[in-house]
Amino acid sequence: MENFINGKWTAPLSGEYGDVINPVTGDVIETMARSNKEDVEAIMDSAYKAFKQWKKVPTAERAKLQHKAAQLMRDHAEEIGTILAKELGRPLAACVREINRGADLTDYYAEEGLRLKGEVPLHNIKGEKAMVVRDPIGVVVSITSFNYPIALLTMKLGAALIVGCTIVAKPSDDTPLSTLKIAELFSQAGYPEGVFNVITGRGRDIGDALVTHPHTAKIAFTGGTSTGKRIGMLAAQHNKRVTLELGGQSPVIVCEDADLDVAIPAIVKHTFANSGQFCYRVSRVYVQEAIYSEVVEKLTEHTSKLKVGDPFGDSDMGPMINQKIYQTSEDQTRDALSKGAKVKIGGARLVEDAYNKGWFFPPTIIADVDHDMEVMKEETFGPVAGIMSFKTIDEAITLANDSEYGLAAYVFAGELGRGLRIAEELEAGSVWINNIQRSYHDVPFGGVKQSGIGREKGRYGIESFTELKTIYFSY
Ligand code: NAP
Repeated sequence: MENFINGKWTAPLSGEYGDVINPVTGDVIETMARSNKEDVEAIMDSAYKAFKQWKKVPTAERAKLQHKAAQLMRDHAEEIGTILAKELGRPLAACVREINRGADLTDYYAEEGLRLKGEVPLHNIKGEKAMVVRDPIGVVVSITSFNYPIALLTMKLGAALIVGCTIVAKPSDDTPLSTLKIAELFSQAGYPEGVFNVITGRGRDIGDALVTHPHTAKIAFTGGTSTGKRIGMLAAQHNKRVTLELGGQSPVIVCEDADLDVAIPAIVKHTFANSGQFCYRVSRVYVQEAIYSEVVEKLTEHTSKLKVGDPFGDSDMGPMINQKIYQTSEDQTRDALSKGAKVKIGGARLVEDAYNKGWFFPPTIIADVDHDMEVMKEETFGPVAGIMSFKTIDEAITLANDSEYGLAAYVFAGELGRGLRIAEELEAGSVWINNIQRSYHDVPFGGVKQSGIGREKGRYGIESFTELKTIYFSY
């Protein structure tokens, strides 16, 4: 597929294309443009020209288009979900759900955008007033990870468009096809040329040019912490705004009075979803010592029901996207074993017939870990979780906070007051108590510490694509 620039499929000026690989079979499913810096120039020009007009369109008209695009996403959820399942290897039903959830978020942003307001302070100075309004910031560069390409895109897209910004999206090299299809749908919905553009290519080839381009007003980035820090440093040098949604290694605390019938399935689901390639997955499990053995056995038993396999079969988990992402799971497991931990289930690459062309790692639970082990310190981004016991609540909080990351955290406590006290002390952008839902669209999402800067979703997510302007007037 070619780049989507100015409402048209556009061959890359580089003349180069790369392969998009099915991670289950290793087959090439499509090609994508391998863009270069000249392509960046062309796409930024298109987005900037479009911005000059798009910002003048009344918000109500923008909202109508946005609802139409969201409906088209729903109408094509099966088709785009299938493309996503092929490029990512995640079970089809979950891929279709991702498109529908993206449509819901797009609808939500359209409605919330209509509610944005300015201010007129009541100074009571005769003949003088000041108005505080919000301007769209300009062209937004969205750079996203492979793991939830449409969820991560739509966390930025509808929020930027509804306030009058235009977008240049750079999806992951591993999963670009679904994003390109979404751009085509927005064009079909009637969006003017240049409002939503997609460029593909390696981040290391075109990332700097996108970040530093004079027309770039903001970089909305979701990906690894080291890439995010690099983008953040470059952005600071060029005075660009950023939102950085970065890595995580999220803890769950299970107190001795927790309802295990709720806790066990919730933890298993949020440890192994998307083969653990999930930024706010449960990675570190801390269990109060009186119920430690019971929880280890129940988590192991529940995990044993998960099926690994082809996304178009009845599997719960597919392969890892590539060897680089896979390798951390294998390395952390080996490290934990060498330091005395016990693998309760999983622990070694699946290589039999159906698996031998992909990077399949089974759901893995490692008991009796400690904080000298990599699995409790470094991001796994794969289907491996470590479990250890704690005696007191203060100890559990200290352990949970003993991480450079702070994206999400989870607590299961029979007594809600205790759950709340723990939640207040956990260093994380979001904390779930007594169950784990997907993140809601109308509340902020983002990290603290090395997990990021800024928030997406909710009103906060929209405001981050605007800048306040004060207009003084005398009469
Ligand atoms: P990544 O390697 O950092 O890549 C993310 C995106 O950045 C890709 O589009 C990549 O392009 C691009 N990129 C790479 N180098 C770049 C550069 N020098 N300049 C500009 N862009 C560049 O991350 P990943 O392996 O795809 O994803 C895994 C990470 O994302 C994990 O750490 C995970 O926790 C994090 N994540 C966080 C959230 C959240 O909401 N906090 C959500 C999802 C994932 P190429 O693909 O072309 O290299």
